[in-house]
Amino acid sequence: MYNLRTPGPTPCPDEVLQAMARQMVNHLGPEFEQALHEVIGGLKKIFQTKNDILLFTCSGSGGLESAIVNMLSPGDKVLAVIIGFFGERFASFAQAHGVNVIPLSFSWGRAADIDEIRKALDNDPEIKAVFVTHNETSTGVTNDVKAISSLVKRYDKLLFVDAISSLGSIDLPVDYWHCDITITASQKGWMVPPGMAMISVSPEAWKAHAEARIPRAYFNFSYTKECMEKGHLPWTPAVPILFALSTSLKMMLKEGLKNIIARHVQVGQATRDGVKSLGLSLFADENYASNTVTVAKAPQNLDVKKLLKILREDFDIVLAGGYQKLAESIFRIGHLGWVTTDDIKEVISALRVVLPRATAP
Ligand SMILES: *Cc1c(COP(=O)(O)O)cnc(C)c1O
Repeated sequence: MYNLRTPGPTPCPDEVLQAMARQMVNHLGPEFEQALHEVIGGLKKIFQTKNDILLFTCSGSGGLESAIVNMLSPGDKVLAVIIGFFGERFASFAQAHGVNVIPLSFSWGRAADIDEIRKALDNDPEIKAVFVTHNETSTGVTNDVKAISSLVKRYDKLLFVDAISSLGSIDLPVDYWHCDITITASQKGWMVPPGMAMISVSPEAWKAHAEARIPRAYFNFSYTKECMEKGHLPWTPAVPILFALSTSLKMMLKEGLKNIIARHVQVGQATRDGVKSLGLSLFADENYASNTVTVAKAPQNLDVKKLLKILREDFDIVLAGGYQKLAESIFRIGHLGWVTTDDIKEVISALRVVLPRATAP
């Protein structure tokens, strides 16, 4: 069987794919309204929030951009906590919109250091908001958002969380941890194809929205909320993705959030143990290792491209390579959403055979 083990897109159960094969409905009509209502109710349970949740037809990056343009004004100071490629991307989007980004970067493979964030906040009282990546998909590290949020809230700043590859897989109680803006996307832990971003907006964030001056049109939060209160979305949404999400949320709620999180803990541990059993080391600081993506260091004589090719062609297993400077030196195993320890056992067994074939003598 085809074993897609990239950290997004992730495999979709048959029920979810079948939901997408439904005939189209009027996106301003009652069937859509019903599905939207169910989806938002389900999402609120998984986000563990009473906040508004908005949907946009776009990938996760569109969700990040929507947060920036709806919450900030040109020249606003933002502390961007960066632990990898996706943290850099979030910061670069803000810069593109004229936000005054103060980057706080940590070496790739490590989690953010709370004391350094505290120092940065002490140094600059004008900082309005803090960006953090909950789970850095490029390095396989999960930040301690609970600790970061309690610090950020002591300084009374807005907290933006890129939870694209964590929400629905790793515990992130949005209200309890006071996340003002939380962004995720359909093709990660949600067992749904790409096409939709889901974003929670706190009451404090709505206050910031009222004053924010970066231009926005398609991604207008208040207009979107207004439409959603009337039972539809602005613009024509990805209707099949909404149907898919409605089905996957039913499956997720049936399994139960606690059980989903526990399954990811178990699968994450099995993946790390498996990688180590092959004699490879982990790229991430193990105290902060992600339960949705595991990053293995490639030994110097291992040809990563060849490894991925053989796995794909001979074993129907698709793993991910590294981004940018990590392209030749790591490979990544995605284990979020529809995944069990058996899927991972298959990957580890295949790696045991293929690693020698892709390694120069
Ligand atoms: C996948 C991912 C993104 C980008 O999402 P797209 O859907 O590819 O735009 C951003 N941040 C994190 C942490 C991700 O895992």
